[in-house]
Amino acid sequence: MSSQSAAVSIPGYVISPPEQASLSVAGTEERFPVHRVYCVGRNYAAHAVEMGHDPDKEPPFFFQKNPDNLVADANEFPYPKASQDVHHEIELLVALKSGGEDIDVNDALECVFGYGVSLDMTRRDLQGEMKKLGRPWEIGKAFEMSAPAGPVYPVSAVGHPAAGDIWLKVNDDVRQSGDLNQMIWKTAEMISILSGLFTLQPGDVILTGTPAGVGPVQRGDNLHGHIAGVGDLTVRVS
Ligand code: MN
Repeated sequence: MSSQSAAVSIPGYVISPPEQASLSVAGTEERFPVHRVYCVGRNYAAHAVEMGHDPDKEPPFFFQKNPDNLVADANEFPYPKASQDVHHEIELLVALKSGGEDIDVNDALECVFGYGVSLDMTRRDLQGEMKKLGRPWEIGKAFEMSAPAGPVYPVSAVGHPAAGDIWLKVNDDVRQSGDLNQMIWKTAEMISILSGLFTLQPGDVILTGTPAGVGPVQRGDNLHGHIAGVGDLTVRVS
């Protein structure tokens, strides 16, 4: 058993305030401060690219990770405790510079500061047990260092990526492969829908779901994620 306590006294606080979670920003020394991390469940069509409106699509569902689960400029993912089945999920990360409530889908992209490459690492065995029991997913999703992330690329540099390859290799084998245009719920739609459920804030981050091909990782594996027009993320499982 171990415990941690704040040794430094900061005026105005009974204990030292926690560190501000943040991501690096490409092209600057300044950081992107993180407020919340929203994640979208199953957001890639398994087959053809959707064209226009699909009346059969289910509403998106959301869960959250903790801001400090993000690991900025990650190059290592420590295999977590309490699981024997940890899966990789490569995801486009969206970083918001503004927020609000009930944001119109046509205005939603104006909230975006930038985009990045991230991993929604998942303790699949624990998540599966929780699903079976109808319980919340936190123990499967929101554990320490569960969201390795690369730098955020500002919209001024990368625009609003809506199409292009998204893939993940494990030790040079392609395990996940898709296209951003297979996202069932587009970035603007996700922002708009989330803003009808929560008050979005500057600093909120959205992990936008993963393409097919998720699977287990082992200690020593090298994960290489790529999103066309955004960048790469290379992480070793330790
Ligand atoms: Mn995911």
